Amino acid sequence: NLSERLEGVFQRLRGKGKLTKDDVERGLREVRLALLEADVNYRVVKNFVDRVRERALGAEVLESLTPAQQLIKIVHEELIRTLGETPAPLDLGGSRPVPILLVGLQGSGKTTTAAKLALFLRKKGHRPYLVPADVYRPAAIDQLKTLAERVGVPVYDTDPTDNPVEIAKKALAEAKALGRDVAIIDTAGRLHIDEAMMTEAAAIKETVSPREVLLVADAMTGQDAVNIAKSFHEKVGLTGVILTKVEGDARGGAALSIREVTGCPIKFIGTGEKLEALEVFYPDRLASRILGMGDVLTLIEKAQEAFDLKKARELQEKLRRREFTLEDLREQIKQMRKLGSMQEVFSLLPGIGKKIKEMPFDEKELVRMEAIINSMTRQERLNPRIINASRKRRIARGSGTTVQEVNKLLKSYEEMRKLLKKARGPRGLERLARRLLQAF
Ligand code: GDP
Ligand code: MG
Repeated sequence: NLSERLEGVFQRLRGKGKLTKDDVERGLREVRLALLEADVNYRVVKNFVDRVRERALGAEVLESLTPAQQLIKIVHEELIRTLGETPAPLDLGGSRPVPILLVGLQGSGKTTTAAKLALFLRKKGHRPYLVPADVYRPAAIDQLKTLAERVGVPVYDTDPTDNPVEIAKKALAEAKALGRDVAIIDTAGRLHIDEAMMTEAAAIKETVSPREVLLVADAMTGQDAVNIAKSFHEKVGLTGVILTKVEGDARGGAALSIREVTGCPIKFIGTGEKLEALEVFYPDRLASRILGMGDVLTLIEKAQEAFDLKKARELQEKLRRREFTLEDLREQIKQMRKLGSMQEVFSLLPGIGKKIKEMPFDEKELVRMEAIINSMTRQERLNPRIINASRKRRIARGSGTTVQEVNKLLKSYEEMRKLLKKARGPRGLERLARRLLQAF
């Protein structure tokens, strides 16, 4: 993958003081080759490389990073930008039931994805409805009915003698009568792009005005997937793409090109045949995977965060003065998310590592932590030692948690206090990060 290619170049860059024009060009040559090999559209590659070059030769010099790290960082950021920066959520606005139309070639995974999406939405508290509108393949209706049963979602009893437009219309009325809030319409695909398929998709779209028209495309087909997306977008108009079989395609070429060529966001990825194997698409995760440098990137980011985290320093200052109370913890909850990501930096240090890893730092946990602290009195926050069993019960009740969770929070707080104190001095974090950066 890309990272292996870049490694060689970066090896040579190591030890140099600055990114020269030569270095950049050498690095970019590898980036270009690697992207082409990953089956990324050549035009996309060209634009991409141009953007990276412009930035790399620009003034963005960070003293904390080596030249190689800087180039990796820029490539990574541009990958994310090309992939669309942030996840694109489903648009479920408008009157109920909200129609979602799935289109795509035969075999791309439409029917499977319809069921996966229904399951995904059901788990989110929605009341989805599945609509089989593929009347050309005799088994298609039964296939979706079977899958619907497996995901516990009701399915429209399609009359195979109706045409797809009638089916969609009747099914929506039925969904409404049943009080369903989302209707996922599975359509027919052909083996290749053809007019009849496009016309039909457009006709259904015209009739039901879907909130989302999602192309289901097979990531394994690489460049084909891009051309398919382009055609569908031009002829039918898409609101997004679901890439399937991503687990088999480590190259990421289709994802990179589709977004850039069509401007349509990738909303989900299918990562297996199981009905749970549908994930919200996170551009940064794929970018890291394409680069294959997750660890290095994480370190770079963490180190940088450590460098400019003024708040972290204030926090440390408090720790140093032994003033860090639960009240501070609450104020710092937002900040703690960044500290949470610094977890990994800490975890690389012998001795501190293990305990830090055991600490709860995920988002939900933080929300719970905040709720628990909110349910304490000011006195309790300033002096947690007074929190006895009956106070714990009260706090748990007030925050909708359990006594165990209150205990866990108090224990974590205590650990945190002790551990962070070990990174002695206000410059402790910086030193830590510097040492880590020197390690590679
Ligand atoms: P359709 O013709 O577009 O409706 O495609 P189907 O839903 O019938 O799927 C075709 C094949 O692709 C089936 O064997 C699915 O199990 C498989 N499939 C669908 N999505 C994925 C995925 O994300 N990963 C893998 N490995 N297989 C998938
Ligand atoms: Mg199908």
